[in-house]
This record gives sequence, C-alpha cells and structure tokens, in this order.
Amino acid sequence: MKIIDILKRDSLSISFEVFPPKYDTSFESVKAATEEIAKLSPSFMSVTYGAGGGTSKYTLDIAKNIMERYSVPTLAHLTCVSSTKDTVKKQIDDMKNAGIKNIMALRGDRLQDDRNGGISDYRYAIDLIRELKESGEDFCIGGACYPEVHPESTCQKEDIRRLKEKVDAGCDFLTTQMFFDNNLLYNFLYKIREAGITVPVVAGIMPITNANQVERAIKLSGSFMPQRFKSIVDKFGHDPKAMKQAGIAYATDQVIDLFANNITNVHIYSMNKPDVAQKIKDNLSDILGKL
Ligand code: FAD
Repeated sequence: MKIIDILKRDSLSISFEVFPPKYDTSFESVKAATEEIAKLSPSFMSVTYGAGGGTSKYTLDIAKNIMERYSVPTLAHLTCVSSTKDTVKKQIDDMKNAGIKNIMALRGDRLQDDRNGGISDYRYAIDLIRELKESGEDFCIGGACYPEVHPESTCQKEDIRRLKEKVDAGCDFLTTQMFFDNNLLYNFLYKIREAGITVPVVAGIMPITNANQVERAIKLSGSFMPQRFKSIVDKFGHDPKAMKQAGIAYATDQVIDLFANNITNVHIYSMNKPDVAQKIKDNLSDILGKL
C-alpha cells in the first residue's frame, strides 16, 4: 500500500520509525524489536538508512520482514550523499525487486571523513528524487522538512524555496524533523502552504525517555527545548523510570495537541523501543479508536 493513500484518508494516523542494526551481531535483537512494534498495527513503519550506505544493508531486510510478516505498510529510507550513481541505482533496483512501494528520499548528512571531500554523484535529496522518478517504478516518495530550518540553510525563506523545488520534483509527502514545541510546526505549515507546498505533512515526534537523549536531539536537529520540557529533564533526568514516564507523557501531550489542531498524521521516532511505542498508543487508544 502507498503511504500517500494512508495520509489522505479522512482519519488519524500514527506511524513508527525504527532503525536497522549497525552490526551483524545485533540483527536478531533489532529485528525482534521491530516486530514487536509492528504488532501494534501502526498505520505504517519507516526504516532508516545510514548515510553513505555503509551500515544500511539491513534497511531492506527489516522493511520487507515487517511488510510480509505483519502486513504493515513500510517506508524504506534511502540516502544519496557520498554515493555513486551505480550504488544508488542498485539500491533502487533491490527495493523494487523486494516489493517496496514507498521510499523516503534523503540526502543524508555529509560525513566528516568523506573520501570524496563531500562531493558525490548527488548533492541534494532532489537529485535522488529525480533518479527515483526516472527509475520507471511508480514509487510513493517522501521527503524531509525542517520546521526549525535545516542547519545548513541561511534562512527559512531559502529553505522553504528549496523544499518547494524538492516537492515539485516528485515528493508525494513530507515528514518533519522532530520538534518539541507544536507552535513551531503550526507556524511552519502556514509558511509552506503560503509558498504553494500542498502535499501532506507528517509531524515527527520524538519521545525523550532519558536525559542523555536531550543533548543528542539538540545536536542532531538543533531543536528548541521549551522551558516546560527543560523543567521535566531538570527534575526527573537523574531518575530513569520517572524520566521515561515524563518523556512519554510529554510526547503524548504533543500528539493530542496536534490531533486537536487537525494535524492528522503523526510519526513517532520510536527508536526500536516497543514499550515506548506501546505506551504512546495506549495513551491514545480512545482518541485513535473513535476516528
Ligand atoms: P536536502 O533536501 O537536500 O536539504 C539539505 C539542505 O540543502 C537544506 O538546507 C536545503 O535547504 C538545502 N538545499 C536543498 N536543495 C538545494 C539546492 N539545489 N541548492 C542549494 N541548497 C539546497 N539521515 C540518514 O542518514 N538516514 C535516514 O534514514 C534519515 N532519515 C531522516 C528522516 C527525516 C524525517 C528527517 C527530517 C531527517 C532524516 N535524516 C536521515 C537526516 C537527513 O539526512 C539530514 O537532515 C540531511 O542533512 C538533509 O537531508 P535532506 O534530505 O533534508 O536534504
């Protein structure tokens, strides 16, 4: 099933993101965690992909397994930075042959030890989207967007101008970078709609369940942390169980506010944590069940 058909339905959707193992030895445990999440019957699941492709051989295996064993629609991520055309074409062929219908087309972060000095056959995600369009397969294509502006962009206007080009090249939908203040998303949506970007936008929510994640999340995404969230970390950060409970409650609160404001598609960065995914879904059971 194509993700775009799920997003266009007149109902709420909750999807979960998982990531493939970095090492062969952890394949079975990661696979088991992703299966536990699949058993929650999310609207779809996405499987991330390592920039440069080095650690990503399992993206396809995990995506295929979830799709075939649990009938959960899957979105396989694909990055193009530091990749050659041949490598990317092979990945696209493999995805096609595995029956993957949905691809999240990403540039990926440029690697510091990039042997090509940051120059690859692809410079931006739009190059990959064009490649996918030329593949002859009718993929449903997702792209990333940044309510708080991509860290490399000099200003939001320019970032949104590039986003419009990316969508016009063939993105069927967008998923946002994580954010911790919903007003940032509402403001962003207003601006992109004004810029003529009309595709569905899936709101990405990251449940922060331990204090160490906070620093990583800020470094990764440059996200703004509202005072309300900082107080939670200050108060409960030293107590793993309390922090987990508070982090799940905060993420749940964000999702409820999004649904209440007619943002119907929410993607949870569930980080291979079935218990976190389960709790969020349980917290929303009546809300999701009624719609
Ligand atoms: P692009 O859309 O190419 O944008 C990158 C920057 O370049 C932006 O500042 C943009 O404004 C600018 N730009 C775009 N086109 C042009 C142009 N023609 N000229 C000049 N500037 C331009 N990373 C992974 O490695 N694996 C994953 O699985 C993964 N999944 C992700 C999922 C989501 C939902 C998000 C939000 C991010 C994900 N990332 C992942 C991280 C992502 O790869 C990085 O944020 C990366 O730095 C940018 O990728 P992009 O596809 O948004 O790039």
